[in-house]
Amino acid sequence: MVRNIYSAAHEYGSIRDNWARSPSFIQDAFPKLTPVLSEQLHSNGFRPAYPDGKQFAVCVSHDVDWIHQPLSRSGFFKAAVRGALKGDIRTASFAGKNLLVPVEKPEWSLRRLIDREAEQNIRATYFFLSLAKGDWDYNYAMDTVERYRPLIDLHGNEIGLHGGHETTVDQNRLTLEKSRLETALGYPIQGHRSHYLKFRTPHTWQNLKDAGFAYDTTFGFADLAGYRNGLCYPFRPFDQETGAYIDLIEIPLIVMDVTLWKYMNLGLEASLALVQRMIDDVQRLNGVFTLLWHNHSFNGQEGEIYTRVIDYLVERDPWFATSGQVAEHWRKENLPAMEAQLPME
Ligand SMILES: [Zn+2]
Repeated sequence: MVRNIYSAAHEYGSIRDNWARSPSFIQDAFPKLTPVLSEQLHSNGFRPAYPDGKQFAVCVSHDVDWIHQPLSRSGFFKAAVRGALKGDIRTASFAGKNLLVPVEKPEWSLRRLIDREAEQNIRATYFFLSLAKGDWDYNYAMDTVERYRPLIDLHGNEIGLHGGHETTVDQNRLTLEKSRLETALGYPIQGHRSHYLKFRTPHTWQNLKDAGFAYDTTFGFADLAGYRNGLCYPFRPFDQETGAYIDLIEIPLIVMDVTLWKYMNLGLEASLALVQRMIDDVQRLNGVFTLLWHNHSFNGQEGEIYTRVIDYLVERDPWFATSGQVAEHWRKENLPAMEAQLPME
């Protein structure tokens, strides 16, 4: 039973949603709002440790889907006509802006996230898409990532790959997107989270390992906050088909922003109550609380939920670390004792 929960064996079948993801309802063998395996390991004496004696760890992360203002089709058309009337499509402009120069939407600005997290001494991980013009959901080019890199690096944050729509099933795409991002950054990256949380268990893990990633942090449900394989602990995935561990660290994702209001239909107070309950569980079990908040979810009520969740976390004084730091620390300090307690092989 432990082996089946741990390896998410219920996801090996073919029931997937329209975004090629495993919906939470197919897992009906154990509770999803309780980290049942972490509870069990903890009650058997497993005590994860963190730097400076902190009780638990927090990975704040941002998937950067959008940076630039998308131009509506009709807007583009009007501007193109105006440019054409002036005799030169290159001068085509809309609302006073040249169409050929992408404009950042202020509400999606990464700069203000980076600044406020630096003020609160929070290390975060930024997962960037690494797409080319014409790719599905392409919104910004690699020079935008290059522009943000010094600021993100300066504050001790991390950059990882936000794998595009096909990466979880297409090894060549995965390798291409990884190397494109690394070329733009000028250094190798360690981590991955896929766009839309697309994931195929267990093959995506093996693909990530083969592409040279040290860790992934996609593994959460899109339609439900909670614990996809009963763990609030990072783990080495176990492949039931080969009967062996895949040598990569998965940091399970516990809460994604849009899950709360888009999939679970929760308002502000209910979102906070749920997230706080989960933080309390993770703290008690000395786990890793992983939060995904998109840069386009920082306005109005969405921004308020984020602020209050972060304030709640800050009060509890966890180890705020990048996902890469947590993966490396876990592998060295906590993984051997955890695996010694698991009846896997
Ligand atoms: Zn995304």
